[in-house]
Amino acid sequence: MEKIRSVKGMRDIYGSDALLWSQLEACMSALVAQYGYQPIRLPLAESTALFCRSIGEATDIVEKEMYTFSDRGGDTLTLRPEGTAGCVRACIQHDLLQQHQRVFYSGAMFRRERPQKGRYRQFEQWGLEAFGMKGVDIEAEIMLIAHHLWHQLGLSDSVQLHINSLGRSESRQHYKADLVAYFSAEHAQLDQDSQKRLLTNPLRILDSKNPNMQALIANAPKLLDYLDESSREHFEAVCQRLDSLNIPYKVVPTLVRGLDYYNDTVFEWVTTELGAQGTLCAGGRYDGLVAQLGGGHCPAAGCAFGLDRVVEMMGEVSDITSGVDIYVVAQGQAPRDHAWSMIEQLRQNRPQLNVVLHAGAEDVFKKQFKQADKSGAQLALVVGDDEIVQKVVQVKELRESGDQATVNIDCLPEYLDNCLKRRQRW
Ligand code: AMP
Repeated sequence: MEKIRSVKGMRDIYGSDALLWSQLEACMSALVAQYGYQPIRLPLAESTALFCRSIGEATDIVEKEMYTFSDRGGDTLTLRPEGTAGCVRACIQHDLLQQHQRVFYSGAMFRRERPQKGRYRQFEQWGLEAFGMKGVDIEAEIMLIAHHLWHQLGLSDSVQLHINSLGRSESRQHYKADLVAYFSAEHAQLDQDSQKRLLTNPLRILDSKNPNMQALIANAPKLLDYLDESSREHFEAVCQRLDSLNIPYKVVPTLVRGLDYYNDTVFEWVTTELGAQGTLCAGGRYDGLVAQLGGGHCPAAGCAFGLDRVVEMMGEVSDITSGVDIYVVAQGQAPRDHAWSMIEQLRQNRPQLNVVLHAGAEDVFKKQFKQADKSGAQLALVVGDDEIVQKVVQVKELRESGDQATVNIDCLPEYLDNCLKRRQRW
């Protein structure tokens, strides 16, 4: 019978990758909690209108990437393509914006893009959103959190921070007019996509990756030259704050985001190590979105980490292959019964150890050791009839030396402490 496979662009995550995901999530939860971000859990599906109104009708996401469907009651729903819109919707709906709010969410997002490495149709984001704060502190704080994350993951040398200012929407209108005039004069040089963008969303032409377009883009008018006084001061203050925090960054005047709601500061953390899909985290300020979705005026800023890509990067620097520390092999009914109680006691004594009992009742030692090896455990504990009588256990090193030692059962936890080289845990 033909096997059913996962949907194109939607992945199963298993083995050491799944372990890296758990570690990343644990690391991020601890980090954002230090800065006072509270968890918020949001639905996967929202009314389609929410995304059209927030992300913008003329964006790639809304134009061609959303998973939109009518449910059986005839409502038009969309699987969320990003988290900010739903988060803002929820904060307005539950009246959470009367005071400063810092929230974070995580979970699957859906965009029907052309799948390739680092770009999936279902992917995971971790989002931070902060409401009610108009000074530069909040953008700086969000970038600082990302900066710490890269450090904790050992990725600092592989990522760069790019920043730009989009200014306020009035200045952007002037800029747009000049940009359209500039590109229109070079119409024949524009690729097909950019010719279309010229009519719908000209700023997005700056984001084109087409090598033939790069010279034209480099000579285009610069948005930074169009900022009004307050946006310019704001951007300078952001740069100064990053300098004082010793966070290296590069001002990239062509950086525009693929979502319409941003103003003033925008930023991306990028890497050159993942090929074309090198943006690991992106965000910025979006002071108008709350009002646009029916809340009052409320300055806001946020960012989203693309976890699929961050985990990919972690895989490059991490030697983690398994979460198992110890694999227990025991043959025969009495040794198995004995092993059960012995390792339950060990788990209580040493909760940080991950201990797996071989669970194929009739398997011979050889087969059990094969499984022990595959589990990635560093040590095997071996229990037989003799060990029960002598109140000992055999401890076998599985990875390096292959040495085996006979250890008194009462000394087992201390013995394991000494010989178990803990693999790195974040
Ligand atoms: P965005 O919501 O477009 O600002 O994206 C924020 C982050 O999510 C990006 O920087 C990527 O790391 C990640 N991301 C966006 N789209 C995808 C995708 N199709 N597959 C994997 N990661 C994605």
